[in-house]
Amino acid sequence: MSLERIIREHLYAQGVMSVAEYMTYALAHPEYGYYRTQEPFGTEGDFITAPEVSQVFGELIGIWCACQWEVMGRPDTVSLVELGPGRGTLLSDALRATKHVEGFHHACEVHLVETSQRLRDIQKHAMTTHPPHWHNDVSALPEKPALVIANEFLDALPIHQYVKGDKGWNERCLRVGDSDTLSWIENPIPAMTTALSSHFPQAKTGDVIEVSPASEAVMRQLCGHITHYGGAALLIDYGYTEPPFNSTLQAVKNHTYHPILEEIGQADITAHVNFKALHNIVSEYQTLTYDISTQGAFLKRMGIHERTEQLLSCASDNQKKNLISGTERLISGSQMGTLFKVMAVMPKHSANRIGFGDE
Ligand code: SAH
Repeated sequence: MSLERIIREHLYAQGVMSVAEYMTYALAHPEYGYYRTQEPFGTEGDFITAPEVSQVFGELIGIWCACQWEVMGRPDTVSLVELGPGRGTLLSDALRATKHVEGFHHACEVHLVETSQRLRDIQKHAMTTHPPHWHNDVSALPEKPALVIANEFLDALPIHQYVKGDKGWNERCLRVGDSDTLSWIENPIPAMTTALSSHFPQAKTGDVIEVSPASEAVMRQLCGHITHYGGAALLIDYGYTEPPFNSTLQAVKNHTYHPILEEIGQADITAHVNFKALHNIVSEYQTLTYDISTQGAFLKRMGIHERTEQLLSCASDNQKKNLISGTERLISGSQMGTLFKVMAVMPKHSANRIGFGDE
């Protein structure tokens, strides 16, 4: 049975499915979902993420975590958490870069939120100094302070797409159309029209709004955790702080864009993260605060140039070439520097602007 067959059977029975349901099938189906079956990362895979571009990325995030731990008053125990760690590269670079921070490694217990067993096996081999504990979701984290990192995790969580029509708002849904092909239709949602119109009075016919209840639920769980037990979170993803009013859903296979409805389960599907929706949630928590920056500005404030120089001084010619191009890729406005945003969440009582200040 193929994933397309399974989706068609769902559609024959139910008529339509939302974009969110489609993403869930394509990415997370227990047998055929993309993250369960494919090797997405690296030059051989479908896409390259920041920790795979350069070791400097994970190192600087490790330093951010160690600084937060200092600001927290160096608690005896802290969970170092990563959501969707992929190959585990980020945390293994982060741990290596912080091994001389006195007491930090002793305090850290590594917790990974990862649903793919295949990736859990790879992560286990990447993190030998701190054997990880795995969880299926954020609600299962231990009841203690947590430093939470998520890089390109939220973009993999399902979104709904709402499209402004002439008469009201519709939800974009999948159906089996004429000549038996899968196609999108816009399904009227009268019950949501008033709310969407009042939130987005400026929307014109054809404009698209994306909403991710799954990302918002993760954000609420993180805010609840930090409120109760302390800690901080750093969320990094490509996304926007004002809605672009168009679809950001995309599929990528072998480093190129791929038609969203073809070879289902074999291409990565993501959507840009709505950081405005996320920071609105943080604002509901009286005791929490947030900061947001572009990835380029954040990494420069964390010292990416200084760290790159340090590594260049003892690198081979080939390593030098990779280090320079990696740093450029992470911070350049035409590559990952501007489209990617970094958002920090922390309690007001330990608020600091490490990586976000104007210095
Ligand atoms: N952070 C890594 C990998 C990003 S890819 C990096 O930067 O290289 C997305 C990761 O999230 C994968 O590890 C995938 O298996 C995991 N993932 C996707 N959906 C998930 C979910 N609902 N719950 C937990 N993990 C998920």
